[in-house]
Amino acid sequence: MKIVLIGPPGAGKGTQAKRLCKELGVPHLSTGEMLRQARQQGTEIGEKANEYIMSGKLAPDPLILKIVDDRLAEPDCQHGWIFDGFPRTVPQAEALDQTLEAQGDSLQAVLELLLDEEVIVERLASRSRGDDLPGIIHRRLEVYWNETAPLLDYYRAQGILKTVEADAPADEVYDQILSLIHS
Ligand code: AMP
Repeated sequence: MKIVLIGPPGAGKGTQAKRLCKELGVPHLSTGEMLRQARQQGTEIGEKANEYIMSGKLAPDPLILKIVDDRLAEPDCQHGWIFDGFPRTVPQAEALDQTLEAQGDSLQAVLELLLDEEVIVERLASRSRGDDLPGIIHRRLEVYWNETAPLLDYYRAQGILKTVEADAPADEVYDQILSLIHS
């Protein structure tokens, strides 16, 4: 299964993706986590990405596509994966489609986690990540609506977009996801 989760920061993408990966036996690919890890390891990509992360902006597409391509080439990705936080721009989605097409493959589903902005802000305020400070949260939400939300139409046009009501408790959200990917 090759699945993408899309949703604003705080929608629960990471939690749901991790659970679904366990169930399906595929790797969880979070570009945010890859960047945070690169930063901890002190790599050049990590240092560069940190400036964007801490200002609530998206890291440049070429930088993201490089880490994604490298990760997808690893053996554990051959039978499926779940992306969480990628793609986040239309050029990233086009690049992913091209990569899959070259392998004669395609995405099975794109799950949109939909929830009210008030709930998002509450959830983010209770986390303790460095980029969850109020000013940065605001910027990240703006970036989501401007740069990532257009992906919903992109995937809707491909007929693979499925919407999950993500305001619900995590177990209920997970049940919705399971029934959507098996429908
Ligand atoms: P996340 O953990 O998915 O919320 O990502 C944290 C931060 O990493 C984002 O606010 C961006 O600065 C950066 N980031 C993660 N994934 C991407 C991506 N696909 N494209 C651009 N920037 C990204």
